[in-house]
Amino acid sequence: MRTSQPQTIYLKDYEVPPFLVDHTDLRFELFEDGARVHSTLSMRRNPESAAGQPLELDGDSLELESVALDGQALSDRDYEATPASLRIDSVPDQFSLSVVTWIRPQDNTRLEGLYKSSGMFCTQCEAEGFRCITYYPDRPDVMARFRTRIEADQSRYPVLLSNGNDVERGELDDGRHYAVWEDPFPKPSYLFALVAGDLVEKRDQFTTVSGREIDLRMYVEPRNAEKCDHALVSLKKAMRWDEEVYGREYDLDIFMIVAVDDFNMGAMENKGLNIFNSSCVLASPDTATDMAFQRIESIVAHEYFHNWSGNRVTCRDWFQLSLKEGFTVFRDTQFSSDMGSPTVKRIEDASLLRTAQFAEDGGPMAHPVRPDSYMEISNFYTLTVYEKGCEVVRMIHTLLGPEQFRAGSDLYFERHDGQAVTTDDFVRAMEDASGRDLSQFRLWYEQAGTPRLTVEDEYDDAQGTYRLTIHQSVPATPGQPEKQPQHIPFAVGLIGEQGKALPLRLSADEDENDAPTQRVLELTGDSHTFTFHGLQARPVPSLLQGFSAPVRVDYPWTRDQLMFLMSHDPDGFNRWDASQRLASDVIESLMHQPKDVRTDRRLLTAYRHLLADRSLDQALVARMLQLPTVAALIEQSETADVQAIHEARRRVLTELAVELRDDLVACYRRNQESGEYRLEPEDIARRALKNTALAWLLHVNDEEGRMLAVKQFEGATNMTDRASALRALVNSDFEGDRQQALDRFYGQFKEDPQVVEQWFAIQASSPNAGSLAHVEALLEHEAFDWKNPNKIRSVVGAFAGQNLSHFHAKDGSGYRFLAKHILALDETNPQIAARLVSPLTRWRKFKNVYSEGMKSALETLRDKPDLSKDVYEVVHKSLKD
Ligand SMILES: [Zn+2]
Repeated sequence: MRTSQPQTIYLKDYEVPPFLVDHTDLRFELFEDGARVHSTLSMRRNPESAAGQPLELDGDSLELESVALDGQALSDRDYEATPASLRIDSVPDQFSLSVVTWIRPQDNTRLEGLYKSSGMFCTQCEAEGFRCITYYPDRPDVMARFRTRIEADQSRYPVLLSNGNDVERGELDDGRHYAVWEDPFPKPSYLFALVAGDLVEKRDQFTTVSGREIDLRMYVEPRNAEKCDHALVSLKKAMRWDEEVYGREYDLDIFMIVAVDDFNMGAMENKGLNIFNSSCVLASPDTATDMAFQRIESIVAHEYFHNWSGNRVTCRDWFQLSLKEGFTVFRDTQFSSDMGSPTVKRIEDASLLRTAQFAEDGGPMAHPVRPDSYMEISNFYTLTVYEKGCEVVRMIHTLLGPEQFRAGSDLYFERHDGQAVTTDDFVRAMEDASGRDLSQFRLWYEQAGTPRLTVEDEYDDAQGTYRLTIHQSVPATPGQPEKQPQHIPFAVGLIGEQGKALPLRLSADEDENDAPTQRVLELTGDSHTFTFHGLQARPVPSLLQGFSAPVRVDYPWTRDQLMFLMSHDPDGFNRWDASQRLASDVIESLMHQPKDVRTDRRLLTAYRHLLADRSLDQALVARMLQLPTVAALIEQSETADVQAIHEARRRVLTELAVELRDDLVACYRRNQESGEYRLEPEDIARRALKNTALAWLLHVNDEEGRMLAVKQFEGATNMTDRASALRALVNSDFEGDRQQALDRFYGQFKEDPQVVEQWFAIQASSPNAGSLAHVEALLEHEAFDWKNPNKIRSVVGAFAGQNLSHFHAKDGSGYRFLAKHILALDETNPQIAARLVSPLTRWRKFKNVYSEGMKSALETLRDKPDLSKDVYEVVHKSLKD
């Protein structure tokens, strides 16, 4: 057992840093057996801090070689050093501190700090990785100007990069060389980056709004030279968009992107030198799917947008993580919806929120958007901080309107440029620019849990009035038993008998022509009643249009009403939502029913209409045809019975596919690829629709479907079609074709790690092929590598997160499998290990037959001696009563 419990850090204990760093001078000597880091810090006491405090710097696994104060070497009596801290009791008010440390990047499997990936040196310092490089006040509110000199072997590491501008380079003895980088903008240590490797450079240019020429450079391994164009095009679009929409211009002369294979996160916004997980930046039509292209465009934009929302204005402490992440995710979702289909983008974001973030909000790790305590900050890079944080900013945008929101963001950047601030500062800028009072709104940052809105209605035929009554409740969450009502923008519409959106008159005097067809009602109390006037008949309510707030809505729509909304609601999001509610209702009603009970014919009719509808946005049609996922159905149920949900969903899918077979074939043929691959929204929609039809046909082992899939697989001109055909075959019972396709796919792409990851994920997530035995065999495959987070995610992560019928096997084998691998990973990469615990954390949500096994897997983890802080926190919180 662990001897000491990891410490909990509280927001209420925040104190300003006792020392500030004006300048950080670094010199890295990189070797094959380690690296020597020389750091010289120009420091002074913080005038705002209490006098006389000792100097204490953070470290992690460091070997100290020497310490000097103002040029004088200190003896070991003058300081106290451990691998995790350096303390000097007596220092003057202003001084220069020089420290030399020895680190071992080649043995760093945690991938925090400086490490080696595919023969290159690279860094990941957010949140607390810089302390693995040298002793430092490693907290975001200490901002310094950095100068970095890198020395390494010239033939192995011809490219030497760090933040800022390239100021000097030259040769040294013994075949070594050096480069010096200077970053003129003060920054916290988490934004430091270094890269050294044998990389090819792709160059581009961008002219800013004020006419400055920016050098854009992308560095990748030679084999990836042809996969950079999309990221560079996306970067230029993002740079232009940020100027136009937010008035933000880029500030350095160079902007660099580097792709690395081994990376814990998706990408990192280091000042001027963004480092990306290869899977989030490299793409070509042969190797990346449409979804990957879209994801890359959005991640490149996200990291670029951080240059202002994150880097120029940063977080005071890690409790404020959503200050930069919530706002930047909001900015990237706005950008993506401007680049593609706004409705589909909204559906994707809301689906993620409703399945995964609502689950987090309802589980043992529930925390506010601005958490008030943590043990390990890496565990708080969550959907709540990112996605719910984005929704919170979106609600401010809705409440203020676009002009006042822009005025608020201008004021925020102007007021806080070069500072480390809080979410409260962000909200205050929005208030000051708009004159609106957001004091109750701030509860969105402070209260955890998903608010639930229960809606009742009443139609008065004689008066022609329709009344909506909305009750709000916020559930208790760990540490927060009592909640206050929140300020919720609730967008509604009413649809009349003819399928038209009705004018919403909130008083009898209001002129029909002045009344809008959508209103944003502001909910602030436990309950509100709104009366709409001048109606001829009972309308169908369209509630929470555009998903205007991250809440659950309960209203007893009938199946006929849902079908009506599916074909008439002017709000595209709610059309989709109606399709999901209808399908969920049908699936849930079939659970535990005898086999001869048939699916409601109305669902069939609705889908038949959809398959034939060419007037609707085809991207929306493709989305509406997707049945709710097993994960979404689990989230909607009180106590989940995974196998029953899986079976009922399968039955509905089977029946639909059999009955709609001819419609599916017609839809497939109508949308077949013709001509060159293009990444335009209508082409993406066409492929999505066609591939959905194909998946359904293969689900019922249709012979014509099989021929179409094999033909598509063999003749595909792009990865979207190839991978979709492969997935369809893997999910069918055509075992011969499946194996042949898998072998051919691997043979063709085995040199490409990103494609091999897709190949792994297609199998590990398949309810057909992805049995536990098969997944265990994948772990023995020559291409699998426990040191590479992407491989772990594509096999273990895909199995536990997406292949729910196998993962939740009633004998508990899936849980034991996961626990076994988390235990092993805890030794090498605790961040990744902790993230894999997530599927077990909500054990209380499941029926006994599952929850007992999940709990016992968590107990196995709990009992490991010397569990990492990362895994400790998640496991202990999950088991807590
Ligand atoms: Zn970010």
